[in-house]
Formats: sequence, C-alpha cells, structure tokens
Amino acid sequence: MARIVCKFGGSSAADSVQFRKVKCILEGNPERKIVVVSAPGKRNPQEAKLTDLFYSSHDLASKKLDFSEPWNLIKERYLEITKDLSLRSTIREELNKLEESMRENSSELTIDFLASRGEYLCAKIMSDFLGAKFIDAYPLIQFDSQYNITPQSQKNIAAAFSDMNSLYVIPGFYGSDVEGNLKTFPRGGSDITGGILANACNCALYENWTDVSGLLMADPRIVKDAHSINYVSYREIRELAYSGANVLHDDSIAPCRIKNIPINIKNTNNPGDPGTIIGPTPENTSRVITGIAGRKEFSMFYIEKSMMNKEKGFGRKVLAILEEYGVSYELSPCGIDSMNVVVDSKSLHRVESEVCKEIEHKMQPNKIKIFNNLALIATVGHGMVNQIGTASRLFDALAKEKINVRIIDQGSSEINIIIGVNEVDFEKAITAIYREFVD
Ligand code: ASP
Repeated sequence: MARIVCKFGGSSAADSVQFRKVKCILEGNPERKIVVVSAPGKRNPQEAKLTDLFYSSHDLASKKLDFSEPWNLIKERYLEITKDLSLRSTIREELNKLEESMRENSSELTIDFLASRGEYLCAKIMSDFLGAKFIDAYPLIQFDSQYNITPQSQKNIAAAFSDMNSLYVIPGFYGSDVEGNLKTFPRGGSDITGGILANACNCALYENWTDVSGLLMADPRIVKDAHSINYVSYREIRELAYSGANVLHDDSIAPCRIKNIPINIKNTNNPGDPGTIIGPTPENTSRVITGIAGRKEFSMFYIEKSMMNKEKGFGRKVLAILEEYGVSYELSPCGIDSMNVVVDSKSLHRVESEVCKEIEHKMQPNKIKIFNNLALIATVGHGMVNQIGTASRLFDALAKEKINVRIIDQGSSEINIIIGVNEVDFEKAITAIYREFVD
C-alpha cells in the first residue's frame, strides 16, 4: 500500500478541537499512516506559540530569573488539551520533571532540548489520542550542519517505520547532530521532518496540513481577491518561497524533489478543499505566471569604476568584503563599468561605514553609493518561458502606475523576473503585476 506522510502545523494542534479534526482527516484515508506534529500554535492572534514560550522560559531560567509566566501558559495548554480529550497521559509528570530541571540545573538544559519539548509533548498526546505508535525523532533523525540526514539515519528511519499497517506519530522540528547532541531545525522546521520522512519511507505523497487552503498567487493582504494556485512545480515554489511567499519551509522541498514525491498543502479547517500540489513537472497550462512574491528591507550598493570590466576579480573581491562583514548578498545586476550589489539591509546596517571604507580602500572605485529602502518582487512561472512580450507587459503595467523600477534581473531559466522598487511602491507594484497577468 502507498503511504502518505501528514504533517500538522501548530494551528492544527492548537487545542482539542483541532486534535479531533486531525483524527477525522486521518480516518478519511487509510493511506495516511505517518503523522508529524508541530508544537501547539496560536488559538488567536494575541496568543503566543508554545515554541516561543519554551524559548522565553529557557531564556529566563538560564538567567536564574522567574520563568513561571511563560511556563504556566505552556502547562495550562497541554493539560487543557489532555483533559478535553479525556486522556490519562503522563504529560503532567513530564512537565513537572522539566520544570524541576529548569530550576535545579538550568545550565545543563540546552535551548534546543527545551524548544524541542513543544513538539515532543504534542506528539505524545497525539499518539495517545490516536492510539498510534510514538516514535521519538531523537536520535533517529541525524543530520549534518546543512540539514542533510546521514545515510545511516536514512536506513534507521525506514526500519523504524517499516510496518505498513501501523499508524505512527513523530514529533517534528528536531533530531540530532552527528555527535549525537539533540538539535532543532530552523524555525518552521517540522516541515523539514515531514520531507525527510516522505523520502526515507518512500511515501507516495507528503500532505502538509495548515490553516489555509494552499498557496495564493499573491499575498492576500495586498491583493484581496488573489486566486489560489492549484499546481506549482518544485522550481517555482523555490523561487516564490525565497522571494517571500510564506508557505512551507524551503528545506522541506529538496528531500521530496529527489524522489519526485508530490507535496499537497491542505487546510485542516477545510479538508475538502484541494489545496495546492507542489510537484515535479511544470503544469500544462495557458497561464503565463504562477505567482508573485516579494520582500522589503533591501539595500543596494552602486559601485562605479572606469574599465571595471577589464579588472579581473573585481566582483569576487567586492563579494568577499561583504562576506567578511557578514552581509547577506542577494543579487548583482552589472553594467560595463558599474556593479550593483543588492544586500539584506538588516545585515548591512551595523557595518555599513566599515564596508564602504573597505571597498573604497581595496577597490579604488570612482563612485560608491548606497540606496536603502528597496523591495524585491519576483514574478514566477514556467508559462513565461515561451511567451514573447511578458517582460514588456510587466514593465508597461508598472509604468502605467508611475512606478520607478530600480533593479531588473531575469535569470536565464526565464521562470523568474525579479524587479527592485522603492519600498513605498511595493504594494502598488504587486497589485499592478497581478492585474496585468491575472485579471
Ligand atoms: N514549533 C516550531 C516553530 O514554531 C517548528 C514548527 O512549527 O515547524 O518554529
């Protein structure tokens, strides 16, 4: 039988009502055999995610300060869920033990370990509730610093989940490093656990259950009536996610892509909605673009030097200076005697004057200038590849809205056109592009 990995995000595990929805979803398809859970998330916008409360508790405990405020919220939530589900679980004892360790030997409790307890306790409750087998992610999922799992770990996972008829629950978000220390993935990393399991267990599908019915073609806070995307390729989603579309963790795609396992983003609150499928091949469609995404807070260096094109290693040396100062480099559209380097403003601000001085000193440019408050917008779609005039339509739409385009970058793959505009024009530019290509 083909198996499906189902990852349920924080909103799908926020309270007992959501736990019951998860159960119905699993009962709806007997192929849903492997369940990955996040820590309980927010029940309303004012509330904190439990993971954030674990981080604050650790912070306070490590400074020997009173951590009862975040800790009580954590305790209340887990106990409320178990009570509402009428479970006689050991969660209370586990929480008490953790509390004791935080009081008595907080220095031995690593931040990764405590943060991972959000997922661990949630998976314990979920497996109890579903009558499923609980499998701990530590030390089964072992990964290197790039989050690539070790070959041995790959085999261990396949063996641990080998019974095709059993229902399994595993906590997301953590595993261990190659030295055997418990380590968390980056934030949102339960998605990565789902991808790793789908790959190691050769699943037919990875369902990622969240609180929206898939991806939209543009941010609904900007384009209110944005259409949903039924199908998007792995390549398109990478471009969209990198450019700011916030769906599932970037690093969760690669393990599925290797084995061509499709990912279906589904809505726990509306399980009948088809959601978005992320798959290997470009969709056969007449649609020109698949989606638009963007991010603010970029800065651009403009460096001018006559005969720059003849100076070997000029670009490499400029990028090396940025690297030395920890500035994240994004893209670099170039002229003959000028080079523009777009960087993340947050990483530049603290070191701006040092970086400028170093470039002036080492590269001797005729001119160097920094432009701040820029936004990058990516328009993505396989449909653009063979459509003559896509770029001209895009720039016409922006010109009609009197938007000044500061940066243009079209990769040779032609599935992505990136433009840079002033931050004040960000929303207007996304709306203009959407209206031109979608309706
Ligand atoms: N609970 C973790 C976080 O809030 C991981 C996850 O939800 O995927 O980032």
